[in-house]
Amino acid sequence: MFSKILIANRGEIALRIHRAAKEMGIQTVAVHSTADASAMHVRLADESVCVGPPPASQSYLNQPAIVSACEITGAEAIHPGYGFLSENAGFAQIVEEHGITFIGPSAEHISLMGDKIRAKETMRALGVPCVPGSEGGVETDEEAVKIADEIGYPVLVKAASGGGGRGMKVAPTAEALPHALREARAEALAAFGDATVYLEKYLSRPRHIEVQVFGDGRGQAVHLGERDCSLQRRHQKVLEEAPSPVIDTETRARIGGVCAKAVAEMGYRGAGTIEFLFEDGEFYFIEMNTRLQVEHPVTETIFSIDLVREQIRVAAGLPMSFAQAELSPRGHAIECRINAERLPDFAPSPGRVAAYHPPGGLGVRMDSALYDGYVIPPYYDSLIGKLIVHGADREDCMMRLHRALHELIIDGVDTTQELFFQLLENPEIRAGTYDIHWLERWIGEHY
Ligand code: ADP
Repeated sequence: MFSKILIANRGEIALRIHRAAKEMGIQTVAVHSTADASAMHVRLADESVCVGPPPASQSYLNQPAIVSACEITGAEAIHPGYGFLSENAGFAQIVEEHGITFIGPSAEHISLMGDKIRAKETMRALGVPCVPGSEGGVETDEEAVKIADEIGYPVLVKAASGGGGRGMKVAPTAEALPHALREARAEALAAFGDATVYLEKYLSRPRHIEVQVFGDGRGQAVHLGERDCSLQRRHQKVLEEAPSPVIDTETRARIGGVCAKAVAEMGYRGAGTIEFLFEDGEFYFIEMNTRLQVEHPVTETIFSIDLVREQIRVAAGLPMSFAQAELSPRGHAIECRINAERLPDFAPSPGRVAAYHPPGGLGVRMDSALYDGYVIPPYYDSLIGKLIVHGADREDCMMRLHRALHELIIDGVDTTQELFFQLLENPEIRAGTYDIHWLERWIGEHY
């Protein structure tokens, strides 16, 4: 096992990784920007290294500075968390070339899944159901119209290198398709330096269901059920739950089995998420994330496992600590993403946290790097905490969540806390009958 690891991230996820490492008897090294000198992840870590000025491009994305921090402190491995360098194949490769272990999958797998066209081809070949669409990229308008006629309108133009919902345009008709192609290409080129686009059938009212997978890198893999992440605003998840209210035990075992088999055959190492759209009882693969997800705690909660510990274990060459037959979910979990944002327009609300009181009690977990007097810097993501609640069933979980939300105190900055009270009271949320467009529609009507 490693004796020291470096955490290449900040905020709640840096704390999350620190906690797992400490429980395993591993020393931690925090890296931080000058804006984060007094952040909690820096205070808690055994050592810390400043890697640059506030902009992420010069600090948390500063690869030479992060690798140097590893060498100076003698850290044997790097955990990238989510975001920042977590899905950067080049970084994973450089780290390994320096004799440091990257806690995550191989650079090849990161790169393969980062190209959505190659990812889809790979998954289709491994028996994973995909959204009907073009086989590979589309070049000309004529070619696109021909493919779209076959799959049927509306179609979605998507960027091969896409992420965060960018480079995606819906074309309702053949007439609208050339324009959508042009717009998606321009956006993709500007955001990712790659104008390659492909076509998919646009599903009108799907749910977002994702399957957590885990592999040992040597051909063994398991699935840990699904998370329902359909409640999204601008393609950003807002509330996630597990299990999904619309997936039964038999369906879970079937799609989970398909996913576990696929990653086993790939020889995938560590945690991964296979994302699907789910409509009329059918699953359609959209992408695979080759990292820990923000919403991983809902899975940990119902399976009573520690995904970060498991990531560190397999990165150190140990076998997985569980087999599929031992994994059975218990109860229901919901996560609320608390953002430092002002309602109704969701504008970022950085500043000084005058008072912070996390909720507690049975079945309540608050992952956050906040403390009294902490100043939320304006440079980074607005996620400041994740409230995760466990209940015997969905109803019990919602009651406990309501109670926990009442206990949560964050004074001094605006947050999205209020939104969740309203969502919890909504009959459609209570019934679990929402799709991926539900939240945007609801926000439009209520804010
Ligand atoms: P990104 O990597 O940019 O997040 P994804 O492929 O994961 O892109 O898609 C992001 C979101 O866009 C999905 O959660 C869903 O809301 C929507 N989406 C993607 N593909 C489709 C599709 N074929 N039909 C309808 N909505 C889609």
